[in-house]
Amino acid sequence: MSRPLRSPVCCIAGCSRPATQDSGLEEEALCAAHSAAASPYLRARFASTMRRRTQIENLWSDAARYEAVVESGRYLKLCDVTQAVLEQTDSAWIRMKLDIFLDEAKGGARGRDTLAGSGLAARAG
Ligand SMILES: [Zn+2]
Repeated sequence: MSRPLRSPVCCIAGCSRPATQDSGLEEEALCAAHSAAASPYLRARFASTMRRRTQIENLWSDAARYEAVVESGRYLKLCDVTQAVLEQTDSAWIRMKLDIFLDEAKGGARGRDTLAGSGLAARAG
């Protein structure tokens, strides 16, 4: 199930490129370049939490499956799992954004080019 992006433009300050990566929360989304700036691990973690979130949201909106959960006495368990998945998604998104902010603080892609050109890349770590 796909849904419209929550924001038409990237949420990173100073970036006005069109958004391609939804946050799944609030009114935030990322452009392709900033999405790619986060570490592969953090991007994979966020994608994984979003898949679980979509599964849970689908369960809540599927009347037959929802009724089956309620009738089996697992409604409170479903609420707990839903809350946990929402928190994991928020946390994964925030970690990914922090990684992007850190990359921006280092100058982003342009900064890396400058450091490499000046021979400072090794010291900059
Ligand atoms: Zn951007």
